[in-house]
Amino acid sequence: MIVMKFGGTSVGDVEPIAQATQIVHEAVTGESAWLGGLGRPSESPQPVVVVVSAMSGVTDSLVKAATSAANRDEQTFRQVKDSLFERHRAVIEAIVGDGETHSVLLSEIETLLHEFENLCQSIYILGELTARGLDAVSSLGERLMVRVFAAALRSRGVEARALEATTLIVTDDNYGSATPLMDDTQARVQANLVPLLAEGITPVVTGFIGATSSGIVTTLGRGGSDYTAAILGNCLDSREIWIWTDVDGVMTADPRVVPEARTLPAISYAEAAELSYFGAKVLHPKTILPALEKGIPIRIVNTFNPEHPGTLVVTEAEPTGKTVKAITAIKGLSLITVEGRGMIGVPGIAAKVFSAVAREGISVLMISQSSSEQNICFVIQQEANGRALRALENEFELELARRNVDRIWAQGNVAIVAVVGAGMKGTPGIGAKVFGALGRNAINVISVAQGSSEYNISLVVDEKDVDDAVRYIHQEFELGQACL
Ligand code: ADP
Ligand code: ASP
Ligand code: MG
Repeated sequence: MIVMKFGGTSVGDVEPIAQATQIVHEAVTGESAWLGGLGRPSESPQPVVVVVSAMSGVTDSLVKAATSAANRDEQTFRQVKDSLFERHRAVIEAIVGDGETHSVLLSEIETLLHEFENLCQSIYILGELTARGLDAVSSLGERLMVRVFAAALRSRGVEARALEATTLIVTDDNYGSATPLMDDTQARVQANLVPLLAEGITPVVTGFIGATSSGIVTTLGRGGSDYTAAILGNCLDSREIWIWTDVDGVMTADPRVVPEARTLPAISYAEAAELSYFGAKVLHPKTILPALEKGIPIRIVNTFNPEHPGTLVVTEAEPTGKTVKAITAIKGLSLITVEGRGMIGVPGIAAKVFSAVAREGISVLMISQSSSEQNICFVIQQEANGRALRALENEFELELARRNVDRIWAQGNVAIVAVVGAGMKGTPGIGAKVFGALGRNAINVISVAQGSSEYNISLVVDEKDVDDAVRYIHQEFELGQACL
């Protein structure tokens, strides 16, 4: 059994949905030569669990509708409602069977959009949007899509059934970034998903969402449908997890930034974790753990070029002779510095810094401390800037007054560039090459960190330099030409 997840662009319009449903059909019936080729386990008919995202752009517009409603705008959510209806209606009319099925499906879409309107109306009246309310709204894209996708599969003769992950994935109530409770989830999957598979039905499950044990809808974080696929793969002990997207796998850099980027045929879970954590959007960082726990390979493959083998993520990728495998970047960050000569040799400063930030629920992406201990700096999302500074100023009130800490300040509009590869471990000279490439091209490095795994060197640069920095480092290691 394979879990196959289709991302937003893979279900974003009539053509992609036709392509995606054909892929599922061929896997389920075993009718495809190419699916079984290229070392992929699909020579014979096999059960598939499908996970789908919302159509591309839909989650963004749902979020915009909810936030504008909270800001006393009664127009935007109504416009969003109309445009969502049109987009889904167009797809239903183009690819879903007969007239009767159309009207049943259209009325389900209308019901969900009515729910959307009511939610936005309440947010508008209250003038307030809670994290829980936002999850209720932003989960609707996937809830709309599963119905359409399952119906499109049935039109191809696949016995498919739409399923909301609220009946499968039990999470905590950390709205916006909920964590699954795996034991409860496992039990729900056994009760609600396994029997369908046993009957030969292909379940089509909403990505991105879950529910608390009392049934309140939660979301797993933006881009979280990949995570859904891994959670289900883990519970079902699936043979593999396939992430169908719009590029030929995990590449040596974001192809939108570096056009000559190449596909990496295989990477390890550890490398995939570093790459996704440091900005390779192609795979959500949380996807790795549930797969790794059960040793389930993840394939990243292209819906629009399914013959391409894509990238295989496994425990140990074959050595490629390459030290550096890929360059990634995250934008929209802020570098916070706590500095003071009085910090030297004083134990517990770092603990105070990070506990103050943690209490605010702010996550830290990278840390660096100068060896003289005169400063500690760390990188966070820019939007958390104000909260982090206030928390630190409170925490260090006394030290600031005594001048043990001189200054706490933030530098906004920075980005992290990460240079990743398991082969970097123990190989001297990587840092020199990275800094040489940037130095020759007059790109200033603001801060540096190397993880103890030695799989990754991360640098902070000004956001305006980040795309160039990625391109120069990519060029320096000849990642566009190398035979990987
Ligand atoms: P989906 O909608 O299928 O989930 P995403 O947009 O979330 O797709 O992720 C795919 C995108 O990730 C690609 O279109 C690509 O621009 C971007 N991306 C960023 N870094 C990388 C990388 N190293 N390799 C491949 N794609 C990357
Ligand atoms: N639709 C969700 C989002 O846009 C989840 C996903 O696409 O993976 O974030
Ligand atoms: Mg994605």
